[in-house]
Amino acid sequence: MRILFLGAPGVGKGTHAERVGEALGIPHISTGEMFRRHVGSRTSLGLRVEEILSRGDLVPDVLTVEMMLERLRDPDTVDGYILDGFPRNLAQVHALDGAIGDYALDAVVVLEASDEVLTERILARGRTDDTGASVSNRLEVYERETAPLIHVYRERGLVLSVDGVGEIEAITAKILTALAAL
Ligand code: ADP
Repeated sequence: MRILFLGAPGVGKGTHAERVGEALGIPHISTGEMFRRHVGSRTSLGLRVEEILSRGDLVPDVLTVEMMLERLRDPDTVDGYILDGFPRNLAQVHALDGAIGDYALDAVVVLEASDEVLTERILARGRTDDTGASVSNRLEVYERETAPLIHVYRERGLVLSVDGVGEIEAITAKILTALAAL
């Protein structure tokens, strides 16, 4: 199965994407984690994106798309994948459509939580880009660039909305049940 997780920063996308990937035996592919790994090991991509990540802006599409399309050619993706953090704007949706076509996604899981819950969770998490200014910028960027994707994928009949507030186990279980019903 090919699944995209969508939701605001702090909604628990990464946590559930990882758990669902394990349950289904397919790789969890997180663009944020990939970029952070590049920053940590000081690759040339890492050096180019470090500043952007700390501000909470989006990395330019050319860099993101190239990194992702390369990752999606790895053999572990043949039976499916969980995308977490890509596509994150309309241009990236079109890049994925162009590269993989209509078969790129079977479902889009949209996790939901209020802004108060999101801000509280992110500030508690304490990643290096989880400072006040970066967090509010990421929430804004999400609303402006990423939230419109929900509409695009809803029109394609792919969206499963799941409440992201509650026990982690219970939320993952709800997601797995919704996916099994497809
Ligand atoms: P969060 O969902 O909390 O913002 P992520 O780990 O998904 O955390 O992303 C961290 C950062 O990585 C983003 O703020 C952005 O700078 C960069 N990033 C991740 N995915 C993309 C993408 N698809 N396009 C551009 N930048 C991205």
